[in-house]
Amino acid sequence: MADQPTTIGARRQLGEAWTSASLPARADVAVVGAGIIGLSIAWRLAQTGRSVTVLERARIGAGASLAATGMLAPAAEHEPGSDPLLPLALDSLARWPGFRDDLQAASGLDIDYRTHGTLVLAIGRDEVERLRFRHSLQTRSGIRTRWLSGPDAREREPMLRPSVSAGILCEDDHQVDPRRVMAALTRACRRAGVTLVAPCTVEALDWAAGRVRGVRTPEGHVQAETVILASGAWSGAEGLLPAELALPVRPIKGQALAVKTTPRTGTLTHMVWTEQVHMAPKGDGDLIVGATVEDCGFRSGLTAGGLYAVLEGARRVLPGIEEMEVTAMWSGYRPTSDDDAPIVDELAPGLVVATGHHRNGYLLTPATADAVTALIATGELPAFARNFGVARFRLPVREPERQSA
Ligand SMILES: Cc1cc2nc3c(=O)[nH]c(=O)nc-3n(C[C@H](O)[C@H](O)[C@H](O)COP(=O)(O)OP(=O)(O)OC[C@H]3O[C@@H](n4cnc5c(N)ncnc54)[C@H](O)[C@@H]3O)c2cc1C
Repeated sequence: MADQPTTIGARRQLGEAWTSASLPARADVAVVGAGIIGLSIAWRLAQTGRSVTVLERARIGAGASLAATGMLAPAAEHEPGSDPLLPLALDSLARWPGFRDDLQAASGLDIDYRTHGTLVLAIGRDEVERLRFRHSLQTRSGIRTRWLSGPDAREREPMLRPSVSAGILCEDDHQVDPRRVMAALTRACRRAGVTLVAPCTVEALDWAAGRVRGVRTPEGHVQAETVILASGAWSGAEGLLPAELALPVRPIKGQALAVKTTPRTGTLTHMVWTEQVHMAPKGDGDLIVGATVEDCGFRSGLTAGGLYAVLEGARRVLPGIEEMEVTAMWSGYRPTSDDDAPIVDELAPGLVVATGHHRNGYLLTPATADAVTALIATGELPAFARNFGVARFRLPVREPERQSA
């Protein structure tokens, strides 16, 4: 598939054995897409006793979800314009410890949840000025952070370059390892009775009498009371929705890589964030270095320019990276809406959408899964998710005229 992300090395392989089930004729809920959003919703719904089938056209996590760094970082991510998202981001972060405990218990797998926080760094006077602006924005928004001098920052991370001039410590930011989370979700889904079918492309939604009744695939139909569209960057134009329901979602490409840290090379303890790059140390010794932000549509492949930009950004604050072995590099497509915030809503009878999580899909997973579970149980979005419906884009929310068997 031309629009599939690129991977070199093992970092994006799921560390969980998995075989595809055969296509069932019916399910209470059919989920399109086995990314973190689709799997977490499937798992939570299966826990409520519903029969759930997930259909994935490539592999589990093949979209954005195994490309992510796994930062749960509402403080470091906070920037001008993101105030409307902040309450949901903080709410979801607060749900993560419970989500982690449930997921680890359900799967028997550790997800490498780390609580050391993010260091946001500046080098030189101009960057320090912008960092001060960021700090005052965080403070005005009620985010708990601490201003650090260059020496303070280096005391916390001795491998930083001496020219680091200042920093902000975002103590409440956390992180997970995406590969472990996706493996744990896969196993938790299977243990909860979710049927996972892949590769299996959903070619169309089945409409009848003004509501969605299931999905159509090359292997046959699956009838379902509810279809959940969690197809990430593929849920926008030219996706499965009729023109009158089309969502303002597009792919934002990110290129990233992993380097291996050892006792000889040293590593970081915190996540590190600069204007050019972010770095996140994982429990297996990998240091994830990412990521480009490219509004270029589905353009597969890794570019020298993209990888150079992230490596140069990393070397600027962490000179020791020169000695670290590159073990993997990859690209992925963030599902991005026109206001960079998620879209969680009932689009039409029988059709729920959960997409547009942009660069915060991991952070927003527990809140999204809980919101969709509540929507399906009660017919209404819970208060914490009510601002993230499709109505904010002023799209006409009405039943499509076209009907097919
Ligand atoms: C480089 C990079 C770094 C990131 N870092 C972070 C981070 O640190 N923290 C954070 O919170 N977020 C991060 N993100 C964002 C995060 O990865 C995404 O928001 C999240 O993974 C989106 O999940 P999803 O399930 O909606 O989409 P995806 O993971 O893309 O899943 C959608 C799935 O749907 C499948 N699909 C599409 N169409 C069909 C069809 N017709 N039939 C069947 N299947 C279909 C696709 O194959 C895909 O597997 C990062 C993203 C990138 C690219």
